[in-house]
Amino acid sequence: MEKIIMIKYGELTTKKGNRNLFVDALFNNIKDKLKDFKFEIKKYRSRMYIKTDEIDTIVNLLKEVFGIHEIDLVYSLENRDIESIKDNIVEIFKDHDFKTFKVSTNRADKTYPLSSMEISKILGGVLLKNYSDLSVDVKNPDMVIDVDLREEGIFVVYKKINGLGGYPMNVQGRALALLSGGIDSPVSIYLAMKRGLHVDCIYFDSPPHTSDMALDKVKKLVNILSKYDSNMKLYVVKFTNVQEAIYKNRANNYMITIMRRMMYRIASTYAKEKDYKILITGESIGQVASQTLTSMNVINEVTNIPVIRPVACLDKIEIMDIARKIGTYNISILPYEDCCTIFLPKHPVINPKIEIVNDIESRFNYITLTINAIDSIREVNTINSKNDLL
Ligand code: ATP
Ligand code: MG
Repeated sequence: MEKIIMIKYGELTTKKGNRNLFVDALFNNIKDKLKDFKFEIKKYRSRMYIKTDEIDTIVNLLKEVFGIHEIDLVYSLENRDIESIKDNIVEIFKDHDFKTFKVSTNRADKTYPLSSMEISKILGGVLLKNYSDLSVDVKNPDMVIDVDLREEGIFVVYKKINGLGGYPMNVQGRALALLSGGIDSPVSIYLAMKRGLHVDCIYFDSPPHTSDMALDKVKKLVNILSKYDSNMKLYVVKFTNVQEAIYKNRANNYMITIMRRMMYRIASTYAKEKDYKILITGESIGQVASQTLTSMNVINEVTNIPVIRPVACLDKIEIMDIARKIGTYNISILPYEDCCTIFLPKHPVINPKIEIVNDIESRFNYITLTINAIDSIREVNTINSKNDLL
């Protein structure tokens, strides 16, 4: 017998029609994630198996792959007959650190000559016979010993680790996310990726009003998020002219509303050009003036592609919890100002009126500004910023 890794997919298996597509995508994503290591992987209907000498390292990487429901460390047994399974299970648990247990058998191979109850009973019995300190507790055992009897092999689980869940990255298509340096947008991106989206990011930069440090912070965030999707890109828009034009045209307390409309115009035009199907933002209902329902209507009016706001209905505390879990929080709280904080009016309008917005926007040529801003977009390399802010 040998120690290997068994991968379970969970939610994927309920998607009957798409199943092969999803499993194939997960298979490729895993191979891509592990590309720097030596391993062998096999794919079956509801499990994948990985053989490697570097189990711990590989498991840590698998914890960052969406679509994996559970990562099990298992012994793969050579022989299918019950006598040999008995010998194996005694050997596997010779250094046990639990007192009570139960054996739970999953007889996926329906041709196996014993029932799952019989197998559990036989294997439980042999453990009790060999180890006098052990007893069976079916209700609340220290250890549940899973035995997985499948056509492709017989597996005894010795450790279970939760996977990230969700759908395999990229099975649902491409999205463009408006990424600021704040707490909310990186969390939104994480949640969108969990639904199987490939996400690329767009950041609005306003030099010299914003510093290189603010841009570096965003690069660092992309770096962290790209552990879930190594192909994540960061586009930077030069937004200075747009912001100055709005400012000069006395937008005053409508500054943020109009700035957001410009961001939406630029991002949705660019998304259409580059075949991104939706936009993602970190807006959360009621969190700030630009996120009241009236503001959202006035802002959303300039785009006709779907805008998904994954944290719209989460509390700040819930968003912060996720940010800490995914490792973006400590970067997001660094104090470099983004373009919005610099031009922030004292009292941003809470219930903007579309007539007033139209009036302000008629004072400057927002179409040319949008086109020029799109021309300024460049993709930046995020690798260099790794760790230099921490
Ligand atoms: P965040 O924490 O994500 O910055 P926030 O609560 O601070 O969000 P706002 O600053 O009002 O809210 O921004 C709302 C959303 O607009 C952000 O979540 C982000 O998606 C987008 N956004 C704001 N500023 C920028 C920027 N400079 N570049 C790209 N997107 C931005
Ligand atoms: Mg912000």
